[in-house]
Amino acid sequence: MARALLVVDVQNDFTEGGALAVSGGEALAKRITAFLGRHAEEYDLIVASRDWHHGDDDNGGHFAGVEGPDFVTSWPVHCVAGTPGADFHPDFDTRTVDVQVFKGQGKPDYSAFQATTDDGLPLHEVLGAHHVTEVEVIGMATDHCVRASALDALAAGYAVEVIDDLVAGVDAERSALALAEVREAGGHISSSDMDEGLANPGGAVL
Ligand SMILES: [Zn+2]
Repeated sequence: MARALLVVDVQNDFTEGGALAVSGGEALAKRITAFLGRHAEEYDLIVASRDWHHGDDDNGGHFAGVEGPDFVTSWPVHCVAGTPGADFHPDFDTRTVDVQVFKGQGKPDYSAFQATTDDGLPLHEVLGAHHVTEVEVIGMATDHCVRASALDALAAGYAVEVIDDLVAGVDAERSALALAEVREAGGHISSSDMDEGLANPGGAVL
């Protein structure tokens, strides 16, 4: 019985200034780092996924052609493997990350459960090897890859929690719907304690 934290796609192309920026992405990267500073030791395994696309093809129609992106199934070119856009955001401190998984290599992957390690091991097997039964999901984007990852985790039989103040979405309404969908599928939506510290930023004992 082990608990994993899955940090989804905190990459430059999904943060301000990136090819497919999620508003609030940079702030989220900082907040996740602060969260890890407080809580990393409470997880048996911390996994970070990255969108990791081919640069020389359209990744199964995931990259828009001349007609332009529809932002539903086709997108601007983003997170091409090995480019700065595919790097983790510099404010996301990955020192406590145990395993990285990569998705979208020639395919339109949204879920981290479609991702593999660089040795080709699927996420589900990585979690199995560590006896993980509970997965907490944070990262980006709530309405796309966080949603798909959480739903896949539930379908695979994990207990799933999405921490709602450690995610950022493209569209507020669709993000709220995504969290409702996760809840309906049996997942839990929780909040971190990250705002509690902010009420007393000096940390002084009163
Ligand atoms: Zn992608």
